[in-house]
Amino acid sequence: MTSRRVPLRPAIDALPAYVPGGRAPVGAAAFKLSSNENPYPPLASVQAAIIDAASDVNRYPDMFATELTEAIATELTATLSDAARDGDGDIGPDQVVVGNGSVAVLGHVVEAVVDAGDEVVFPWRSFEAYPIVVSVAGGTSVQVPLAEHGRIDLDAMAAAVTERTRVVMVCTPNNPTGAAVTHTELMSFLAAVPGDVLVVVDEAYLEFVRCDDPVDGPAALAAHPNVVLLRTFSKAYGLAGLRVGYAVARPRVAAGIRAASTPFGVSHVAQRAALASLRAKDELLRRVDSIVDERTRLVDGLRAQGWDVPDTEANFVWLALGDRTGRFAAEVRTAGVIVRPFAGEGVRVSVGEREATDLFLRFTAGWR
Ligand SMILES: *Cc1c(COP(=O)(O)O)cnc(C)c1O
Repeated sequence: MTSRRVPLRPAIDALPAYVPGGRAPVGAAAFKLSSNENPYPPLASVQAAIIDAASDVNRYPDMFATELTEAIATELTATLSDAARDGDGDIGPDQVVVGNGSVAVLGHVVEAVVDAGDEVVFPWRSFEAYPIVVSVAGGTSVQVPLAEHGRIDLDAMAAAVTERTRVVMVCTPNNPTGAAVTHTELMSFLAAVPGDVLVVVDEAYLEFVRCDDPVDGPAALAAHPNVVLLRTFSKAYGLAGLRVGYAVARPRVAAGIRAASTPFGVSHVAQRAALASLRAKDELLRRVDSIVDERTRLVDGLRAQGWDVPDTEANFVWLALGDRTGRFAAEVRTAGVIVRPFAGEGVRVSVGEREATDLFLRFTAGWR
């Protein structure tokens, strides 16, 4: 026997563990508003595609998810704005890279461009996968504090870019605060960032955005070859459990991301479910409209009770509770709602079922 131990890389040892949204205790009735999931179950047509695909799982999936990649490119091209069409024209399948959730795709983006010691700039507080992905790739995180009302401080982000910066991440709407940047803001930011720094625009909540001057990702990509858009089927499309996300980039960048990707990363079942979801897009986006209506009801209800709620363009709201965060999360849980606490900062509350909003608002009305 030897007392030697396998050393872990210091960067791995130092990682904060990813904190998943709380789960309802078995048998207890509780609304899970902790992971920004879609409260609607999969459509019958999507479930049918999943069941149908199950009979093929003795085979490896299509390695590059060819049909899904083409369908995404076709869909993107069909919905291009004039500003986006002005640039490169169509979005081809060579510009789309699918992966095992957009978190995995983000990992491959970073692995494709970040070498040991390179800097990655991102807002903070933001999506907690960011510092993990950067450390795993051997990069150095440069966290730029948010501005007021949970908004991303793009001026400060541009100022944080140095010779060593390889990637900048813009999470819009920002998880967990819900604030979105506008297209005008994004375009001036892109004009200020050197062309050899990759700018990842994480649009996980894109379909929930209703503000004026929303980000037009394909137009940004048409004007700036250093842009990568990240999108996912997990939120608006309700496929969080099947893990499908994708990047949209210029062909050379996309090829780099694909080269760094896990072979056969997206299962056959997930590919078929995503294709069925694209076919049911209109129906799914009507559900998104309902979630946005429910968001309005939640935000208005909270504000009417005197809560300070920042504007949100995502499927969640942010309550900056500071040192009351832990107590709030524990007490609302007893009342039957699970939220996502960020110790000492605040709680993120996903928009869920109507009854969940009602229950939550009844709780907040009496909480001090
Ligand atoms: C939920 C989320 C994602 C999507 O993750 P998947 O891996 O596609 O499920 C990406 N970015 C942000 C900011 C998110 O909140």
